[in-house]
Amino acid sequence: MWNFSFAIPSLLILGLLLLVYFSLPRLRISMNRAFLYILVVESCVIIADILSTWADINYTSLPLFVVNLLNCVYFVAFFMRAGSLMFYATSVLRVFKYRKSRYYQVVYLPMLFGILMSILSLKFGFIYSIDEKGYHSGPWYNLLYIIYWFYLTVSLICWVLYGGKLRRKRERYGLLLYIMILMAGILIRYMFPKILLMDTFCIMAILVVYLIFENPEFYLERRGNIFNSSAFSDFIEENNGKFQGSVIGIVIHNYNELRDVYGGKQMDEGLTMITRFIATSFPDCNIFYHRRGRFMVICPVDYDPDRVVDKLKERFRSTWKSESADLYLSAGYVIMNIGEAVVSADTVFTVLINGMDEADSESNHETVYIDKKSFERTIKETEIKRLIDHGIENNEVQVFLQPLVSTRTGRVVGAEALSRLCDSGGSIVPPGAFIDIAERNGRINELGEQVFEKTCSFIKEHSLPGKGLEWINVNLSPIQFLRSDLADRFSEIIEKYGVDPGMVHLEITEASMIDDTFLQKQMTRMTDKGFKFALDDYGTGYSNLNRLKKCPFANVKIDMSVVWDYYKEPDEILPTMIKAFKQMGFEVTAEGIEDEKMANAMKHIGCDYLQGYCYSRPITMNEFADKYLND
Ligand code: C2E
Ligand code: MG
Ligand code: MG
Repeated sequence: MWNFSFAIPSLLILGLLLLVYFSLPRLRISMNRAFLYILVVESCVIIADILSTWADINYTSLPLFVVNLLNCVYFVAFFMRAGSLMFYATSVLRVFKYRKSRYYQVVYLPMLFGILMSILSLKFGFIYSIDEKGYHSGPWYNLLYIIYWFYLTVSLICWVLYGGKLRRKRERYGLLLYIMILMAGILIRYMFPKILLMDTFCIMAILVVYLIFENPEFYLERRGNIFNSSAFSDFIEENNGKFQGSVIGIVIHNYNELRDVYGGKQMDEGLTMITRFIATSFPDCNIFYHRRGRFMVICPVDYDPDRVVDKLKERFRSTWKSESADLYLSAGYVIMNIGEAVVSADTVFTVLINGMDEADSESNHETVYIDKKSFERTIKETEIKRLIDHGIENNEVQVFLQPLVSTRTGRVVGAEALSRLCDSGGSIVPPGAFIDIAERNGRINELGEQVFEKTCSFIKEHSLPGKGLEWINVNLSPIQFLRSDLADRFSEIIEKYGVDPGMVHLEITEASMIDDTFLQKQMTRMTDKGFKFALDDYGTGYSNLNRLKKCPFANVKIDMSVVWDYYKEPDEILPTMIKAFKQMGFEVTAEGIEDEKMANAMKHIGCDYLQGYCYSRPITMNEFADKYLND
């Protein structure tokens, strides 16, 4: 006798799940559509299962064609479920995003074949038949199992191939668990066909994916019925290359300050009112929220984003009023057209956030437009960030050396260490392209230390001083200079290599000299340990000779722009300045010496050292050693 005591609770659980699922906003992406499809198909299967089983038991009191039809509906739904279970797994794994070809749709043919056979069974009894003695399994009944095994095996293969792309471990193994539960379900059905347990296993599998992927709360902002930034990323990722519409960024000016002034409760109320306004004014748009008063609105292609922004501007001119809130808010706007560009969701997100930062800082409230160039810049910056990370982690930051020539002897007496990175094609990336990114990225300390350490290692390897080379300059970013433990860290490295700290001159720029007290404290701390300082790029920042007097610089490097200006139009300013430096006890280096004439001019006005392409461009440490350090 059939037992459907398992099917009814399964149906109740499914109903509950559908209720929760529909009570919250859902993101329109294929994974969620596939989930909805499973819920609907599974509901049909269970209902058809209960009805057809009941009809099979009571076939004597029912017209045969009704029994026949109910069984047919059940088998059709049963085959549809097989395809939908695989469809879900492949949507989560984004298989068809990676393999776009229509060719892959042939995978649904077995399901269609099963459906056809079920319909034909009405007359020919392939899968089942109904006669005066009731229900009988047909000769092709086992097609059921074959097709399920086929889809579950395809799902498993896809998991093996693409499972690694799922971001979280929980997701990777959750999907495997889903497939395994379904396999167990079909096995149990095969062994105990009269107990309707397969539905229970399907519900278990559905619950697993609900808990791991489909809970709508995952995509919702804590504060209310609005999607969060991971929903935004998934939506963009899914539509990558297909999405033709535009994205609008809205940023509430001075959000944090206003939150302090109005209080959290009123501000939250304000955000809800803004969300509601956007949702009702632009019903076809998807709205997302990303911290600190930033909204992202994805508009379909037939929306004119400028008109949307105009309407928003208009609304923001009046106050946001509700029973518990009365706020005056102003906002900045960003319009981004993704067009056909195939860019990762991360890039879209970064570009949009950068754009919103820009819109936030604009006092004139102009709309910021994001075009192809902004994408290219961000893609390039992302690539450079990757190179910085790779260089630091693999100890592959390169150090080039450029000679410093004494005007007295005409010989190379020192060098400047200049960092370089190598890109994936083996090309050299100059520091102008990565130093400020490393500074913003928080990696400049590690990068600078690697350059410093490699310089120390070079000094040790070539037993310097000696062979004419008296010191090597290393550039220090203001961020490095501001570290209070700088002296200890550098001393540790110096000691590791047994190098004389006087061999390393640290170049700082005027950007490091903002805080007088700290500057003097830090310089003293370092000079006490034996390090020497050079002031780099003199003449490009805010120069104050009085302050310089108090600082123990060994050397002042005149920036190449100042050198070139003087060379083009000589005057008395530079020679006077150099005289003053020398009276203060500083030696002077001229940068950017490109030919003999410039060298002579600089020598003539009192420079002690010269650096520039006239002598050599920066070269690798090995080239430098071969060229200048062979006795
Ligand atoms: P800088 O310290 O002023 O270094 C001198 C720059 O001028 C170098 O550019 C050098 O190649 C270039 N140069 C030298 N002679 C000539 C010349 O005759 N003509 C012209 N046109 N250019 C000349 P580079 O190597 O591209 O470095 C640029 C800047 O990047 C450096 O300017 C320095 O501020 C920074 N930098 C380089 N390496 C590091 C590092 O390891 N750490 C930090 N914080 N900054 C670094
Ligand atoms: Mg320098
Ligand atoms: Mg310089």
